[in-house]
Amino acid sequence: MAPNRDGESRDQVRLGQLEQLQMLLNRAYLNVDFYRRRMDRLGLQPEDIATFEDFRRFPFTTSGDLAAHYPYGLFAVPLKSVVRLKITHSRDGSPVVVGFTRRDIQLWQNLMARLYTQLGVTDRDIVQVAYNYSLFPGAFTFNHAAEQIGATLAPSAMTSATLQLKIMQDFRSTVLATTPSFAVHILSTLKAARNGRIGQVKSDLRLLLLGPEPVPDETRKLLHDGLQAEVHGLYGVSEMIEPGIAGECRAGSGYHLAEEHFLAEIVHPVSGQPVPAGQEGELVITTLAAEAYPLIRYRTGDVTVLRETPCACGRGGARLGEILRRTDDRLSIRGIPCYPAQIGNILRGLDPSISDFRLLVHRRFGLGDHLDILVARADGRRLAADSRGADLDQMRSTLRRVLGFGARLQIVAAADLPAPGLIEKTVFLDP
Ligand SMILES: [Zn+2]
Repeated sequence: MAPNRDGESRDQVRLGQLEQLQMLLNRAYLNVDFYRRRMDRLGLQPEDIATFEDFRRFPFTTSGDLAAHYPYGLFAVPLKSVVRLKITHSRDGSPVVVGFTRRDIQLWQNLMARLYTQLGVTDRDIVQVAYNYSLFPGAFTFNHAAEQIGATLAPSAMTSATLQLKIMQDFRSTVLATTPSFAVHILSTLKAARNGRIGQVKSDLRLLLLGPEPVPDETRKLLHDGLQAEVHGLYGVSEMIEPGIAGECRAGSGYHLAEEHFLAEIVHPVSGQPVPAGQEGELVITTLAAEAYPLIRYRTGDVTVLRETPCACGRGGARLGEILRRTDDRLSIRGIPCYPAQIGNILRGLDPSISDFRLLVHRRFGLGDHLDILVARADGRRLAADSRGADLDQMRSTLRRVLGFGARLQIVAAADLPAPGLIEKTVFLDP
């Protein structure tokens, strides 16, 4: 078996993981009531788990568990040791807060620095980071890790696509880190600026680093051809660290997993049983190193495959394949995740007479680009925008504030709601 980057054999890596796992289980048993109660109920002590097979007796942790222990119920260290909090939400929109110690933050930054390095980013690069910092705190890690490897950082945040292009050209950015959706928007703006003709605006861009939403193949090709740059994705989980868990190398055949810190399993989404090697299933991750917020057998909801064959880049170790789909109904609108149940809760909170709704997701290049929300009221009222326009405006602004993106909102008769597709309350529209 090919060694990993540190020259360790597969067996050595697995042995190291097992040692880390035992330490993690001890920490969790001592410091987190939730995990201790689970182990006690099963009659398990941390030392009973001596093999990966034993570990499969441990129950999964779900998004609902995180929400049920909001805010600090799953923290394994006192708050005085926590230096950063990150707000995210569970699948029904309930709040979840994740904490990090100084060591967690440093580890996260080191992993990101390693991902940059494996893509050939050096102190000669100018790294433009175009993320919304409040919705995606991982943007800080892009920044700090770029500085750590000595690259020149240009944090352009969420300025307009036109300004992003000006920064890219004037600063001679070589690397752009952003969401796939925003990269497509920047490309469209560039094409418009070039009056539809490619090749007139000079750019030094050579690498696009995209995340946290998956990058569909058609988007990847569009961006590669349009921006004349390599396109690579990063994988993260918002309840852990993102980015940094895994990232593509230049060979482009999967996402190298930081195995010394994350234990990955692929299970059948319904039975929860492990699937045979190389077959698709739900990714389950255990954070081996996390101090503040350890997650044990956490169900990510992402469907993928795990490959342990050596990569074309020469490295061994496990790689995740593309994220094929979700096991739940999570949507992504311009890179921001949301759930139909969450939107339903917000709508009913705003107007209890709303009886039903549909989400119309407009897709471009496989990405959620715009959202229309159609709502129907129980009493069948179909209010004209002129009489209740202020209400609708207020609802729109609340939705924008809570979801982090704007949506068009319309009241229609219940009979006019379209039939939903396979995802609850949701219809996908491709141009
Ligand atoms: Zn590789």
